[in-house]
Amino acid sequence: KAKDFGRNQAVYFSQTLDTEIKNKVRLEHKLRNAIVNEELKVYLQPQYDATKQKFVWAEALVRWIDKDEGFIPPDKFIAVAEETGLIHELGFVVLRKVCWYMQTYQEQLSAIGIEGIAVNISARQLFAKNFFEQAMAIIGEYQIEPRQIEFEVTESLLMENAKQAVEVMGQFKRQGIKLAMDDFGTGYSSLAYLKHFPIDCVKIDRSFIKDIPEDKLDMELSSAIIAMALKLGLEIVAEGVETQEQSAFIHSQGCRLMQGYYFARPMPIEEVLLLASVKA
Ligand code: C2E
Ligand code: MG
Ligand code: MG
Ligand code: MG
Repeated sequence: KAKDFGRNQAVYFSQTLDTEIKNKVRLEHKLRNAIVNEELKVYLQPQYDATKQKFVWAEALVRWIDKDEGFIPPDKFIAVAEETGLIHELGFVVLRKVCWYMQTYQEQLSAIGIEGIAVNISARQLFAKNFFEQAMAIIGEYQIEPRQIEFEVTESLLMENAKQAVEVMGQFKRQGIKLAMDDFGTGYSSLAYLKHFPIDCVKIDRSFIKDIPEDKLDMELSSAIIAMALKLGLEIVAEGVETQEQSAFIHSQGCRLMQGYYFARPMPIEEVLLLASVKA
């Protein structure tokens, strides 16, 4: 009967919701422990300059390998960290580690070509009280030049408080920290962002790159994004470049900087230091 079905459905939903909440609480608890016990690792994915034919920069990506569950992808726990406020602690852990890498391995990274590291910053961090002061204090503590650090911010959350975002980003920019708009093209009003936010660089989202050359529309879209960014005098990084063909096309459209498995996967810094700088 329909009524029974409806009731069962409700029971079913409340059970799924219950499991979901339990999973989230469990994940939160585990993540808190992982942060406290210093179990989070920070990998680096080198970025390649197709014109200079060498690596020039790298992006820091947090890695969590749990003793029981193994590799837990950031897409699974960053959202939980944002919801629970753990993102603040996590963000400082990553920034500290990056500054330590720069301080300790500066010469070796530079010999490969890598002059700086990009750090992903959640809009939640950007909006937190004293984030600017705390971040600058860490950068200062490790005696890192601000121009060796870039903050990547994803456009989707920024509009919640665009005015404040512009303000805090401006503070960093005046210190010489570079700013990138991450996952560009996936938000709702990308063009407005470009006009208002004090950014140096846009990162073309992987979704525009991954089906090149089969998807002709994606080819048109990515070259339009590149043309626009070039006109605005912004740097452009193509994300998720996996093939020689994709690299050649993107480069032919005027984008020099590439990040993707074709050039290098995210890896521990020890492996980055073993990289040869030139890829044929
Ligand atoms: P993102 O910042 O857009 O980072 C790029 C993602 O694309 C990374 O996923 C990277 O491993 C992946 N990737 C790079 N090249 C390729 C490729 O050629 N093919 C494919 N299929 N994927 C590629 P990852 O490491 O899983 O991170 C996912 C997202 O989690 C990041 O996206 C970023 O938004 C977030 N994230 C990672 N680390 C941090 C962090 O320390 N703090 C914050 N707030 N967010 C982070
Ligand atoms: Mg990023
Ligand atoms: Mg991205
Ligand atoms: Mg992303």
